[in-house]
Amino acid sequence: MQNTTLSSPQACTPAGAVTIVKVETILVDLPTIRPHKLSMAVMNGQTLMLVRVQCSDGTVGVGEGTTIGGLAYGAESPEGMKLAVDTYFAPLMLGASANRVSALMARLNNCIRENRFAKCAVETALFDALGKRVGLPVSELLGGRAHDRLPVAWTLASGDTARDIAEAQQMLSIGRHQIFKLKIGRKPVRDDVAHVTEIKKALGNKASVRVDVNMAWSELDARYGLPALADAGCELAEQPVAHADAMARIRGRYPIAIMADESLMGPVSAFQLAQSGAADVFAIKTEQSGGLQAAQQVAGIADAAQIALYGGTMLEGAVGSIASAHVFSTFQDLRWGTELFGPLLLTEEILTHPLVYQDYHLELPTGPGLGISLDEDRVQFFRRDRNSISVSVSKAEATVI
Ligand SMILES: [Mg+2]
Repeated sequence: MQNTTLSSPQACTPAGAVTIVKVETILVDLPTIRPHKLSMAVMNGQTLMLVRVQCSDGTVGVGEGTTIGGLAYGAESPEGMKLAVDTYFAPLMLGASANRVSALMARLNNCIRENRFAKCAVETALFDALGKRVGLPVSELLGGRAHDRLPVAWTLASGDTARDIAEAQQMLSIGRHQIFKLKIGRKPVRDDVAHVTEIKKALGNKASVRVDVNMAWSELDARYGLPALADAGCELAEQPVAHADAMARIRGRYPIAIMADESLMGPVSAFQLAQSGAADVFAIKTEQSGGLQAAQQVAGIADAAQIALYGGTMLEGAVGSIASAHVFSTFQDLRWGTELFGPLLLTEEILTHPLVYQDYHLELPTGPGLGISLDEDRVQFFRRDRNSISVSVSKAEATVI
């Protein structure tokens, strides 16, 4: 029997195949439209790690690695992802078949532990390039889309009740969002419950109101907070406590859905959460899952365990958000919708054609690959090292002169 161990990129590269010839990463810093306050961080801007994979046939795929609040959310940061891709991923990728995405991801998973966000960025770029090569959207490469547009929630996280209500009413009036997730957990539980109650009262039945506690509550806090939130008309509480065992103990006790987010880190944890009965809903995130295909595996586990699906975000920019949209569009039952609003939280557009948000939904592009194009001038303008690049260019010019 042939040894299928991927000892070198060439081991999975048929003769004459399209291969990967260049892997490039850059950091792009973009401001947010307002401070975004979560229990673990206050964000005034977002850093995108963009990875470009160039193939021998001239196709180029792009992917994005983004986190919430630098290292506040997890072990990876955009800066760390850039270092990891440049130093460890790229040598494993160069020369490999660009069409065999699964084989290359298996190789990366064999050689590199964790680094799920970076793997997601790279896999996104590989699928984007493959889609452009064969003329199909990424969703079709992943089995085919079940939805052409996805419902998109908006997160109210200004920290101010009156401002949040005004923001929600504005979103309702322009037809952009009718699902609102409130970030709570920074204040005492009673204050948070009062905040949610006031917002739900102001919005009434025109909107679905949910909360994300980002693990900030103790189990005792949750025993007080969850029934009070249910009484207020709140439909769902996302990761109210940190530990999966505590999630399992509180799930099903109150008339409010419990959603796993931070504790859901790919297929293995999905299986464990399903086994322990810790969640009614999974917030599936492509980056947290470790990639596009891994996110589909998480969805498969959820389906088997009759756990409902929600398309989560790491507040990715346009590239990461639309990659997630391609994955989520393949989920048959997405009854809790998505929260792919990340690009709307940023003040600057980096696509030639912005993503289309209308009628409370995000439209899936129909073009090949991700179906988007970067505005290169904008990307170059916002890249973090633009000053050092212009210095080195002027030095080179000076040398020529
Ligand atoms: Mg969350």
